[in-house]
Amino acid sequence: MKTLAAVVYEMELPAPYAESRPIKIEELELEVPKEGEILVELTSAGLCHSDLSVLNGSRPRPMPMVLGHEAAGVVRELGPNVRDLKIDDHVIFTFCPTCGHCVPCATGRPVLCDCGQEANAQGTLLSGERRFTNKDGKKMNHHCGVSCFSQFTVAARESVVKVDPALPMDKASLFGCAVITGAGAVFNRAAVEPGSSVAVFGLGGVGLSAVMAAKAAGATKIIAVDMLEHKFDLARKCGATHALNPADENFLEEIRDLTGGGPQCAIEAVGSEVAQISAYNAICRGGTMVTVGLAHPEKNFSVPAVSLVALEKAVLGCYMGSIVPSVDIPKYVEMYRAGLLPVDLLFSGFITLEEINASFDALARGDVIRQIIQFS
Ligand SMILES: [Zn+2]
Ligand SMILES: [Zn+2]
Repeated sequence: MKTLAAVVYEMELPAPYAESRPIKIEELELEVPKEGEILVELTSAGLCHSDLSVLNGSRPRPMPMVLGHEAAGVVRELGPNVRDLKIDDHVIFTFCPTCGHCVPCATGRPVLCDCGQEANAQGTLLSGERRFTNKDGKKMNHHCGVSCFSQFTVAARESVVKVDPALPMDKASLFGCAVITGAGAVFNRAAVEPGSSVAVFGLGGVGLSAVMAAKAAGATKIIAVDMLEHKFDLARKCGATHALNPADENFLEEIRDLTGGGPQCAIEAVGSEVAQISAYNAICRGGTMVTVGLAHPEKNFSVPAVSLVALEKAVLGCYMGSIVPSVDIPKYVEMYRAGLLPVDLLFSGFITLEEINASFDALARGDVIRQIIQFS
């Protein structure tokens, strides 16, 4: 079948993308779903910083690629042996398919799935195959098994979680990356306790989701940290009790004063080693820094080695919120419905597929949180 899709042929074209236009909107041929796969008609897809990281080359991926990894849609066709989904089911995509059999999957850490990570690195579905072809007969790579910047996509059954159709689909897409990454870091990795203090570095979709989750977890001091102070009002609406600019001369002193020696937990959602170091320095003795942002692969995180021991500081990485998708995504959706995760606050407006290049410029500048492509 034919589908209109957003394709990247080359990374590291110069910004602004409205001029260099790294993303081409093209009609592609999409094969029918094979064994264990499904065809999904996309309803909504969010623009995330990890897509930008592909465009600017800080998260290198095989080219050419149909971009996009945060989305929701409706199942339109089932490949052979997909028995637990039906046509017209509503689904949210997850950006690491999980085989269910490897050691990480079998030990309850499916986001580290050996097979899913390998497929994502190669730009294939879990099957090792590719389903999009351009007009020259060239196979397109899949982005994290999702490739949702397309009217239709084919994905492994293991790349989606079924959701209640009553959930509005534009909101549903946000649970595919921003919400699970930020909230999962707070609940699963940091295990934030009621009455504790949490600092969140980086107030994009992931960081603001972490702020909401910190409030839901009962943290009583929630410090929103960003160099763009125009984001502070929104952070307060999401649950922040204070907001600080890390570029301020007195930043460390202020955050320590606010929290009696530093927050017990810091979530780093910027994706830079500078923010990681700032977050590490901010946490209290015995505190934990959880980093969820994707830093450039050539950058190193460097802190005084002795501080790990003498101050008993902990540094934890967290991929995709360390979630179990089929358990945690429905849980976070229920928390949204109960008013505990006000995900609507992340929404910055709808865009069309054709507006995608300029919309990534807006995201890179920090003008917006989550722009959502609405397909129909
Ligand atoms: Zn993302
Ligand atoms: Zn696995």
